[in-house]
Amino acid sequence: MCVENEMLLRAVNDISAKLKDMRRELHQIPELAFCEEKTSDYICKKFDETGITYKRGVAKTGVVASIEGKNATKTLLLRADIDALPMQEDKSRPDCSLHDGVMHACGHDAHTAVLLGVAEVLWSVRDSLSCNVKLVFQPGEEDTGGAEPMISEGVLENPKVDAALALHVMNEVETGKIRVKPGAVMACPDEFDLKIIGKGGHGGYPKECINPIEIASRIITDFYALLDEVNKPDRPVVISVCSIDGGTFYNIIPNEVSIRGTVRLYDSELRKKLPNMLEKIIKDNTERYGAEYEWDYRFMFPPLINDEKMCDEFSAVCAEILGEDNVIKNGTPSMAGDDFAYFAERVPSVYFNLGSGNKEKGITMPLHAPDFDIDDDCLKTGVLAMCGYALGFGK
Ligand SMILES: [Zn+2]
Ligand SMILES: [Zn+2]
Repeated sequence: MCVENEMLLRAVNDISAKLKDMRRELHQIPELAFCEEKTSDYICKKFDETGITYKRGVAKTGVVASIEGKNATKTLLLRADIDALPMQEDKSRPDCSLHDGVMHACGHDAHTAVLLGVAEVLWSVRDSLSCNVKLVFQPGEEDTGGAEPMISEGVLENPKVDAALALHVMNEVETGKIRVKPGAVMACPDEFDLKIIGKGGHGGYPKECINPIEIASRIITDFYALLDEVNKPDRPVVISVCSIDGGTFYNIIPNEVSIRGTVRLYDSELRKKLPNMLEKIIKDNTERYGAEYEWDYRFMFPPLINDEKMCDEFSAVCAEILGEDNVIKNGTPSMAGDDFAYFAERVPSVYFNLGSGNKEKGITMPLHAPDFDIDDDCLKTGVLAMCGYALGFGK
């Protein structure tokens, strides 16, 4: 192992207890999207202690800190999402959420602690840094997304960002390991609302009515037939109807039915066509029955695509620092979404999974579970991976 990596390992070991403390402290003060005031205070206080310069209030509650490298010409952006989820934590554990109905069930407390650790380590070795580093603490990932507003407010400029790196904890990967792959890693989490407007009346006289429930059932069946057509092993697509709302009683045909759902995929070309393909199904079915419809299809975060070359470089750095066996280079892309995709659309980027599971300790719960937890030992691995890449960047 080279001298630089040994220096890095020592620096990360020195803050390993602090990393766990930070994660637990952040875990106790979870805040919803764009309300991350205490979390921002916490982050800024850490920077006040070290002397790292920062700007707060970016995209409302985001924080951007900068560390300048020696004679640096390139800039690397490192991103942590900082928001929590509107759900009640299982209160049986110590250090659980102090905010009722809000919980860090997606590990963004860990992401924040890792990036604070990265800042501290990189600041301590800044004389060896050949690039500028922008530390981006991004609000609102679980909601409408803070990445896009941060980009609008100029986070990719002054200095201009050349590449971006982010991580997400994952309990299906054991602590100590990371998982990274080139190409598609996260789907677009697009959404739709459909209202079918028929004609209500007595359930015993369906011929005098236009039953929106009957039409809805046909539309949904056709949606799934379309899914069978477009979903291919090398081009996975999800169409999920997740909510149907309409009707009140055994013998009353309602006027309206509302349907909500999600469409997820990685293929940008097909993504553009799907709303029309779905609307054609709706149009055909409602016309046949003489019903009306309202259709609202929303493109949410784009698919998240890892840059191939950067991915290779990042894997090589991690293999050297963490050991070849601790870098998993395959794995299927996820059907969840992440607005880090907006950064990845603009600059070469890598989004990787930080293994945070530990079967022996019983830490296997999925993201968004009310008893979600991680193995805190993973925090060190995250800091090593990000710092290792930053130290080689721009050389
Ligand atoms: Zn989440
Ligand atoms: Zn998340």
